Amino acid sequence: MPSLLLVDDRPQNLLALQAILEPLGHELVSASSGAEALRCLLHRDDFAVILLDVQMPDLDGFEVAEVIKQRERTSLIPIIFLTALSKEERHVFRGYEVGAVDYVFKPFDPEILRAKVAVFIDLWEKNQQIRLQAEQLAEQELAELRRASAERYRQLADAMPQIVWTSDSAGNATYYNRRWFEYTGMADDQVDATAWSRFTHPDDLPETIARRAQTLADGGVFEVEYRFRAADGTYRWHLGRAVPIRDESGEIDFWIGTATDIDDRKRIEEAQRFLLDAGGKLSMSLDWRTGLQEVAKLAVPRIADWCAVHLLEEDGAIATLALEHADPAKVVFAQELQQRYPPDPGGARGAAEVIRSGNAQLMPEVPADAIANAARDEMHEQLLRELGIRSFLCVPINAGESTCGAITFVTAESGRRFADQDLRMAEELALRASAVIENARLYEEVERRAQAARALETIADGVVLLDTDERILLWNHAAEAMTGLAAADIIGHPAREALPGYADHVVDVDVDGRPQTVPLEINGRELWLSFSAVRFDEGTVYAFRDLTEERVIEQMRSDFVATVSHELRTPLAAIYGAAVTLRRPDLELGDEMRHRLLEVVADESDRLAQIVNDVLLASHLDSGQLQLRIETVDATKVTKTVIDAARTHLPDGVTLTFKAPKGLPPVAADEQQLRQVLVNLVENAVKYSPDGGPVEVKVARGERGVRWAVSDRGLGIPASERRRVFEKFYRLDPNMTRGIGGTGLGLYICRELVRRLDGRIWVEGNDAGSEDNGAGKGSTFYVEIPVAERPARETPPVKTAV
Ligand code: ADP
Repeated sequence: MPSLLLVDDRPQNLLALQAILEPLGHELVSASSGAEALRCLLHRDDFAVILLDVQMPDLDGFEVAEVIKQRERTSLIPIIFLTALSKEERHVFRGYEVGAVDYVFKPFDPEILRAKVAVFIDLWEKNQQIRLQAEQLAEQELAELRRASAERYRQLADAMPQIVWTSDSAGNATYYNRRWFEYTGMADDQVDATAWSRFTHPDDLPETIARRAQTLADGGVFEVEYRFRAADGTYRWHLGRAVPIRDESGEIDFWIGTATDIDDRKRIEEAQRFLLDAGGKLSMSLDWRTGLQEVAKLAVPRIADWCAVHLLEEDGAIATLALEHADPAKVVFAQELQQRYPPDPGGARGAAEVIRSGNAQLMPEVPADAIANAARDEMHEQLLRELGIRSFLCVPINAGESTCGAITFVTAESGRRFADQDLRMAEELALRASAVIENARLYEEVERRAQAARALETIADGVVLLDTDERILLWNHAAEAMTGLAAADIIGHPAREALPGYADHVVDVDVDGRPQTVPLEINGRELWLSFSAVRFDEGTVYAFRDLTEERVIEQMRSDFVATVSHELRTPLAAIYGAAVTLRRPDLELGDEMRHRLLEVVADESDRLAQIVNDVLLASHLDSGQLQLRIETVDATKVTKTVIDAARTHLPDGVTLTFKAPKGLPPVAADEQQLRQVLVNLVENAVKYSPDGGPVEVKVARGERGVRWAVSDRGLGIPASERRRVFEKFYRLDPNMTRGIGGTGLGLYICRELVRRLDGRIWVEGNDAGSEDNGAGKGSTFYVEIPVAERPARETPPVKTAV
């Protein structure tokens, strides 16, 4: 309801105006000056009209009107001027000029004035009405606009591929978009304020609830990763986000939230982490089998509900290396299942098929009939169904060209479904496993070869390896030692060039046949090597041993047989001849003749016995059966008995002398054996002086005991042979060109006996440095036997090698 402002400096005029206008029933506000009127207008503007006196002291009506018109808030309020005086046109114009709507002269007709004021009141009310209507209209339009825009937002939210929801400031859900219903499979009427919590994975729920409570309290942005159950029962990772929407006052009006499917990203991250961990396990484990078992453990439940590793055995069977599930009870069940129905290598499904074909298998959703097909009987099928297999993934593990096993991943209760990216992950894993297996096998092979090489280096047999082009690949230590050819000079060279005698002899050795002994002349030395050859894909390997020495001994042995039989035959022939002569009845033999013949029999029997003794003694020495009786022996005395015995049958032209200083110390020796040594030396000196000559025996103090020197002027021994004459069966002249018989055992026996007495024996030429290399001027044999310092002792027999 509007009011009326009455302005007049005279109270009676104001009263009159009030009386006139009162019947209009509106509030009348009176001001007794211009200034007061303006003050009134400062507070309120609900005036339908202002009745303004023109003549007033200080501010007159015109001046007040100007101010009113200038102020925006009041400029539209109609002004009616009241005047008693200013009827002139000048004033009237001024009144209209400053915005008056009317100009009323005093004294005015109350009826007319009332009517005029009523018009303005009416106008004000009309305006007011129009304004109200306009406001209402605007509000309606706004509401409509809001509804339309909310609808648009809803459509937008529904069209979004993410889950979108809103909730009130307390967090109770007020809206879910279409994607929510599609994803969860919920019906409209099932949804309520806390529906989300029934679809969140139980493991992720506590953190989600905690985070939610915190953001509801502090108004922060809610952001959590959790698994959300889909209509098919599987869980997929989502990133949940919610932001508060605030009203003008800053209070939280509602929350708007989204859940974005980040499952693929999460799975890839998880797969990458798993691959990293699995790679670590594979490379850290000492044995790749253990590594694969560790990997299977890692895989559950991160990648799958089940993980198994199968290996192809050498006999073609399929062995289960690992079988894992997060729940040990299930593992026991599956193990029993596998025992009852072991993987069939010929099986057309599963790991067996993957191992056979080398192709990976991915079954995102295992169809019901697949289990029926895979089962061997009803019982099997039932047990398989109990596993609740949902998704199946199996990749081959390759070693070199062939498949040696398979890794199987199976999902069941988690409801997870394998997809292409899981296949890629599994293949990557199998690749790593293959690399590790390959490495391990290479390592084993290298180790095996290294061992073989070490064995080749250390065995006593020479080994030479040739490639198919007869190039030398290996020449072992023993080969070097035997031949004196260094590996460095020979490896890599063609055998025909680098190995003397290869082309003439070695190539003829039967491959895979019996060993053959062939002569090779290497650096002026003849070697007899026994070769055996084996051919293999990459060439031929020869093993050989040095038979040179055996050959020499063999040679000597056959010489010995010839010599001994000759040596035996000669005295036998003499005995036989003498006996036959003695038995002849037709011959009248004189006593002397008979005596001489009997002497021949006796001497030759002696010689026979001597030869047989030598052979026996040598064999006793070889077998270590000879007993020693060490005692204190008088060197001069024992030598004298030897000289005396020799003198009884000295050939013509040979003289035998003996010299010994007085006071020689006794020696520690077996007297019998010492005598044998001296006898042999004296007899040789005589025997190898076929042209006669002096034989001298001297005894004296030597460096290490008592020393004998037996020298002759006979055939002598070339310097190069002086060591060898002590070898068994060795004779300088095996063919007896000078007709001197012997067995080649005498000096060997001497050496062995002297050695047992801790003494030494050697020979020197009598004229070293002469043109004929010492031979011809005779030789001197020396023997040195330790002085007896301790009482006589018994020593056990000593075994020696030839
Ligand atoms: P043998 O029965 O042949 O004499 P030994 O072992 O006693 O056997 O001697 C070996 C070889 O040494 C003899 O065959 C001979 O050639 C040589 N020999 C030994 N003693 C002498 C010597 N005093 N002078 C020259 N040659 C000797």
